[in-house]
Amino acid sequence: MEFFPQAFPDETIYSLAARYHRLAANASYRQTSYDLFGRYSRTCGSAFPCCLDALSQQLANKLSVSYLIQAHTLLPIFAPFLSSSQLDTAIKAMSGPSGIGLKMSVGLTASGFERFGALKFCERCVARDIRHGGQAYWHRIHQVTGVLVCPYHQIVLKVASPPFDDWRYLFLPDGLKDRGFEDAVQNQNEIPALTEVAQLTAWGFRNSAEVSKLLTGGLLRYRLAELGILHRDRIRLSLLHDYLNGAMAGAPQSREYQLLNAGEPKGHEWVLRLLRTPRRSHHPFRFYFLCHLLGLDSERLSNLAFAFEDQGLSTFVRENKIPYQKRNVPGELKVNAHRERFVAYPESTRVHDRTDYMWLYRNDRIWLTDYVRSHHMAAIRYPYVDWAARDAELVVELQKASDCLLQSHSWPIRISYAALARAVPRHYDFLRLATKFPCAIETVRDLVETEHDFQLRKIAWVFATYPQAKEMSTSNLLRLAAIRIRRVSDTELSMLLQGSLEDSRQA
Ligand SMILES: [Zn+2]
Repeated sequence: MEFFPQAFPDETIYSLAARYHRLAANASYRQTSYDLFGRYSRTCGSAFPCCLDALSQQLANKLSVSYLIQAHTLLPIFAPFLSSSQLDTAIKAMSGPSGIGLKMSVGLTASGFERFGALKFCERCVARDIRHGGQAYWHRIHQVTGVLVCPYHQIVLKVASPPFDDWRYLFLPDGLKDRGFEDAVQNQNEIPALTEVAQLTAWGFRNSAEVSKLLTGGLLRYRLAELGILHRDRIRLSLLHDYLNGAMAGAPQSREYQLLNAGEPKGHEWVLRLLRTPRRSHHPFRFYFLCHLLGLDSERLSNLAFAFEDQGLSTFVRENKIPYQKRNVPGELKVNAHRERFVAYPESTRVHDRTDYMWLYRNDRIWLTDYVRSHHMAAIRYPYVDWAARDAELVVELQKASDCLLQSHSWPIRISYAALARAVPRHYDFLRLATKFPCAIETVRDLVETEHDFQLRKIAWVFATYPQAKEMSTSNLLRLAAIRIRRVSDTELSMLLQGSLEDSRQA
């Protein structure tokens, strides 16, 4: 495949397909699906898109199947809740052509959340993406069940409304008209709680290995013990019900939340199931919502994951005592060496990117927090794009593409916007970025053929290819050139005929 859009961070496969669709100027989803997946795929817009093996092959294996799954699908957020055989089955199904039974096996069908599934986006993320990458796209994190607020901008997400939510339209967020979307949440009071769940979910998405560790370590029961709801490793049910009634009273009820926040007993059954068997194909939304109900936030999860990386939490739960991790306290010399290296980085380097950050986070957190607070950190810099140079390059490529089409000896292809965009071997979405590619747009306008010019070229090609065409009647000649509505005058026809006769005499 000559051009395929470069994937953005956290972009869904569906979004990549939609951007490819736009770039290729394809007429239908069917065509795009065949280009990318080699067949008509019905799962392109789902949480678990299939045919990824075919896609990887189309991309000359530049992006492996496991990379596509890990970086561009929602499977990683489900992974900690699946057994290794379930995970293998899911990966196999997503690589192959059919995803039948996949949603069932990961518990998505039974959860009932699917009917709330819709394409969601954050207006500020879209504005930022256009500013920095020149394009709007669908982010994975916004598509996760339970995420109704952007975890980064803390504003309510927009949901594509029917019929614009149909995946076959391959819309991008900036392609939806004002009528095409609505607020995911109407009740503004829910925003703080929704932000917390979204941030927990985003943390879990980035740290699925940590989530696995916390689950096997018995995080939820540990938290119950902290809250005094667990006694001698047994859940005190009446205390739990009282606690949940209180916590759910103030919790969100919009969209998918209404299925979990459904009052007693239905609203408590899923909590008990999750507490008793935390690793059995539960939907991640249930886990993160329960964490929120139990008063855990992403920072706490992150701290607990660090604190118990060596020892399971279950030990502490059984012994019902405050967890304490034995740790060798590092010496002053060692601490100073790490601090010095950390400070020696240029100010513009993000703290998380400095090698000593993790060590200091674990061993010298008070100093680290003070340092970060007292130093103004430079904003993330995005690479500067030399649009003028790209524009100039693109002009050359467009001219080459046009020459190539004109010189082809096979059946003439009309030089249209779509044909040029398809032939340019670089993935610029230049037709949509008119302000960034002024010269390229101008060139395209000059190169594009009118129907009249295209007919002249087809007739010339017929004369050159079929010697008997010179003797034919006009109507037969036009039929041979696949011209239904004629735009060419008699004079032009006879000039073409004259020209081709002279050519054959010279030859
Ligand atoms: Zn956002």
